[in-house]
Amino acid sequence: MKVIIQKFGGTSLKDDVGRKQATKHIANAVSEEYKVVVVVSAMGRKGDPYATDSLLSLISSRSIALPKREIDLLMACGEVISAVVMSSLVKEHGLSTTVLTGVHAGILTNNDFGNARISEIKTERIVSALNDNDVVIIPGFQGVTSNHETTTLGRGGSDTSAAALGVALDAQFIDIFTDVEGVMTADPAIVNNARPLKTITYTEVCNLAYQGAKVIHPRAVEIAMPARVPIRIRSTFSPSNGTIVTDKIEERDKRNITDRIVTGITYVGNISQIKISEKKNSHRLQSEVFKAMAEQEISVDFINISPNGVSYTVSESVTEKAITAIKQLGYEPVVEAECAKVSAVGAGMTGVPGVTAKIVSALTNEGIQIMQSADSHTTIWVLVKQQDLNKAVNALHETFQLNRISN
Ligand code: ADP
Ligand code: MG
Repeated sequence: MKVIIQKFGGTSLKDDVGRKQATKHIANAVSEEYKVVVVVSAMGRKGDPYATDSLLSLISSRSIALPKREIDLLMACGEVISAVVMSSLVKEHGLSTTVLTGVHAGILTNNDFGNARISEIKTERIVSALNDNDVVIIPGFQGVTSNHETTTLGRGGSDTSAAALGVALDAQFIDIFTDVEGVMTADPAIVNNARPLKTITYTEVCNLAYQGAKVIHPRAVEIAMPARVPIRIRSTFSPSNGTIVTDKIEERDKRNITDRIVTGITYVGNISQIKISEKKNSHRLQSEVFKAMAEQEISVDFINISPNGVSYTVSESVTEKAITAIKQLGYEPVVEAECAKVSAVGAGMTGVPGVTAKIVSALTNEGIQIMQSADSHTTIWVLVKQQDLNKAVNALHETFQLNRISN
């Protein structure tokens, strides 16, 4: 059986125009003799009636906090609605299809409600449904525990569902359809001349995704990579093949890939920088502060430890919680709110001198203050004020001439 996975994101399914476009891609794959497994996200974004955030807003103002198990029951509805709506369009198109939820499809997870991990997919029912139909539609982002409880997979969960199904069904391709042309040299929402990348390796796209390029969730890449199932990131609104993620790079593309020092510029906004200084007993400060953050389940980034104290960043949403915990330890933190982390990512920067110098001069020329920086062999990070974010991403995109890459 020649299987293809086609995942459609919420932005693509938000209205009838997008859903009809999605149906065309499904019909095309059927005409190419694929058995198609369609994975759908909930329709639209916050404000759209059946989007995940809109469902959550139905309970957010209540005074009683619901157990995570019940929140998952609510959140899983958005994808089910989307799957049934797509089923009606696909049938209208003359194709045979059936909907299997995470429960029906045998997508087994652990019981970490809200952020569950897929442990196994029992594919029998999917395979039998594919034998009987052209298309099987599966709501993404959901699974089931061994105790028959519905779970959701956390942020980017539909990408993860698509990747896990692709591996379990030994698919020819995992196609991630979204509202942009593919993986681009920067977020096209803030860089006008960002360019789509034709080919990219699993490692590169994983790095980009971890550093904020939300076009695909890194967990999905990590699932597909060891099985070497190729992923394509494509636009719902165009017929092009988009970006192909693979390790099998064709000879003529090899030079392009190994030559690029920087593949893309990414960012994560809405973070706060916390600084705590203490000259007398910095050892105690270091261990106490990070222990407290761990106890509060606050994830920390951009950690800088020196004999005079520590500084690190946290997401804006947990800043208050972090400050309270630090004050309880008797320290006075200095907080710089509204910051953003900008990253230049590229496997080709390893050992190349002058990359940091280029970044620093591009930003200082624009009058952007670098509040902190760090680097690894594939990424250089800088912390800037949120108000400088767009300017900083554009300046770095420009300085590495990413608008001129040839694919
Ligand atoms: P979906 O609803 O399809 O899951 P997402 O909003 O999760 O869509 O991801 C698509 C968005 O990712 C694009 O609209 C784009 O603004 C954003 N994005 C951020 N960085 C990049 C990048 N480097 N390449 C492409 N898109 C990016
Ligand atoms: Mg997405």
